[in-house]
Amino acid sequence: MKIKAKKSLGQNFLIDRDVLEKIVSITDITNKEILEIGPGSGNLTNFILKKNPKKIYVIEKDDNLSLLLKEKFNDKIEIINDDVLKISEDKISNQKLTVFGNLPYNISTEILSKWIINIGTNFWFENLVLMFQKEVADRIIANYNNSKYGRLSILTNWKLNVKKIIDIKPQSFTPRPKIDSSLLLFTPKKNFFKLKNANNLEMITRIFFSQRRKMLKKPFNQVFHNAKVVAKKFNIDLNLRPQNLEPEMYFKLVKEYEDLRD
Ligand code: SAM
Repeated sequence: MKIKAKKSLGQNFLIDRDVLEKIVSITDITNKEILEIGPGSGNLTNFILKKNPKKIYVIEKDDNLSLLLKEKFNDKIEIINDDVLKISEDKISNQKLTVFGNLPYNISTEILSKWIINIGTNFWFENLVLMFQKEVADRIIANYNNSKYGRLSILTNWKLNVKKIIDIKPQSFTPRPKIDSSLLLFTPKKNFFKLKNANNLEMITRIFFSQRRKMLKKPFNQVFHNAKVVAKKFNIDLNLRPQNLEPEMYFKLVKEYEDLRD
């Protein structure tokens, strides 16, 4: 079957054998259960299979590619022909999964945010090995006091440890994307800050970072009736900017907001 890449589904297929081998060697997956998001024509799937995992599930939205994968791999993989944004990943297996995804760029942050927000007390995965456009990866891993630091870094930092593995050039793909990519490895945090509702973290970071150049005074007054009292309690200088507060401080502020509303 001839494959024509669909731009609307972010189809850039990875063809660089060194990069493919590198991706499947980041963690030991022999005898592990694997979930691959957007396997496309199965290039990465092939490399995963060579490591002898216990089982491979793949989620692919494209009907034609799902048929092609069925032809190519038959019962060696379990194909879920659906939209990853509509799937409950925690229902796929009762084993913890290692997840691989050369994610479609247009929905990559939506997928990651959905997973982080939906994690209850139990993680359904052991590792996430995910590829993003480099500019998005830089925002995910940014530290505070950096201009790229913001909502994505804070949300990720809440429940996950993250490490950059490699940057990948456009010539490793076909068709070639216009931008560089980066591969990130995420692992669950053993203890993460308990909040009542993840949406409050989303809301508060949205208010703060939609005015990232403004002093903290402004978003503080929007979120808290007693802004000065809260700032004093946490020893925060309201003349600083949102990027100067570390992730932990945002978690504390969200908890304070939740406690004050009880
Ligand atoms: N992993 C393959 C590779 O490296 O060669 C292809 C990666 S390509 C960047 C993204 C893949 O995700 C495509 O196969 C595309 O059809 C699929 N995809 C796009 N949107 C999706 C969605 N919402 N749910 C599941 N798969 C999706």
